Amino acid sequence: MKIGIIGAGLSGLAAGRVLAGAGHDVVVFEKSRGYGGRMATRRIQREEPIPMDHGAPYLTGTSDAFRSFLSELEEKGLITLWADRFSYYTDGRILPEMPGREPVPYYAAPNGMNTIGKYLGRLFDIYFEEKVGGITHIGGSRIRKSPWMINSSSINVFEADAVIIATPAIQAYGLVATAQDEFDLRKMITVLDDISYTSTVSLMAGYGERNPVDWKAIHCDHPVVSWICNESSKRVSSEEMSLVIHSTDKFARQLVEADDPGELNGKLLKAMGQIMGSWAARPEWHQLHLWRYHFPKKSLDMPFLESQDELAPIALVGDYFQGRSMEAAYLSGLKLGTHWVEKFS
Ligand SMILES: Cc1cc2nc3c(=O)[nH]c(=O)nc-3n(C[C@H](O)[C@H](O)[C@H](O)COP(=O)(O)OP(=O)(O)OC[C@H]3O[C@@H](n4cnc5c(N)ncnc54)[C@H](O)[C@@H]3O)c2cc1C
Repeated sequence: MKIGIIGAGLSGLAAGRVLAGAGHDVVVFEKSRGYGGRMATRRIQREEPIPMDHGAPYLTGTSDAFRSFLSELEEKGLITLWADRFSYYTDGRILPEMPGREPVPYYAAPNGMNTIGKYLGRLFDIYFEEKVGGITHIGGSRIRKSPWMINSSSINVFEADAVIIATPAIQAYGLVATAQDEFDLRKMITVLDDISYTSTVSLMAGYGERNPVDWKAIHCDHPVVSWICNESSKRVSSEEMSLVIHSTDKFARQLVEADDPGELNGKLLKAMGQIMGSWAARPEWHQLHLWRYHFPKKSLDMPFLESQDELAPIALVGDYFQGRSMEAAYLSGLKLGTHWVEKFS
């Protein structure tokens, strides 16, 4: 079966890997330039490029299936155990850990989180910088064999026997709406309508050869900053001290609406100075990235959503199924992939 997957994030790649492994012909369309979706890494151009995980910073999970995936990644040398607790900023002080939190194994990717996406995507073709604008249901026609057409920016039209939409729910809503001539698809839209997301701003900052701080990351109880990650502590050789800061949802929304984003940028740096000391407000370089979709505010109580039309299969996967995390995204893709391997064997 020729399967078109929209989105090269963890859920789409997990589904693609299972289906391609079972012999299906999988092609992934990804609007950005790289693997991993929100599990993203930006390489800052210096003499030695510095990987900065400006999306999800680490991996952790509790289910057997996700733990077995983590073991696989560890065996391949893609992730290593990084920390079992994080510091906590509250009432103007950085505490070594958050009171009442049990230790948990957190894994980091020394060469960047997007190396995981690259590993998952090695069995099939991925078209990068290929934004899908819509999908067309052409099932029922006896002239055409494939029931779906995927319309993307430069390939124009790609015919597929089945489609998987592996994007945040809001983007999935827009895509399903383009093919909304079927009763089944209208039902899908109604379910998606209920999912919204928090946003965040990631600020990547470098401080030259300043001695690294002694913490790995800090959860912050602060109106502007929610999380600070010591990126240098994840890298095998890191001459340069670098941090990634995530803003609160409220701050990110101000940035979306701001007339002058520069002013808010200054506020974020000032907040870092407040938390860590004045040195933190004066990085040698910094870059911002706005994530409109950070975490889903609620999730659906099912592993994936698929249409009942067996002649024109279409399904949705992502982190908004049975959780709100990378683990949920992986399990959603894995479960749909396994289900379709059985169903269409
Ligand atoms: C800053 C940040 C911090 C996070 N921290 C954590 C954390 O600590 N723990 C945790 O569990 N999770 C965390 N997350 C969330 C986690 O990254 C996501 O839950 C998970 O990666 C989602 O995977 P996904 O496959 O569902 O979606 P995504 O990763 O969003 O993948 C969807 C892909 O679809 C592509 N796409 C969208 N529309 C189209 C289109 N029309 N055509 C083609 N391609 C399209 C996108 O470019 C993207 O690559 C964090 C996220 C962010 C942004």
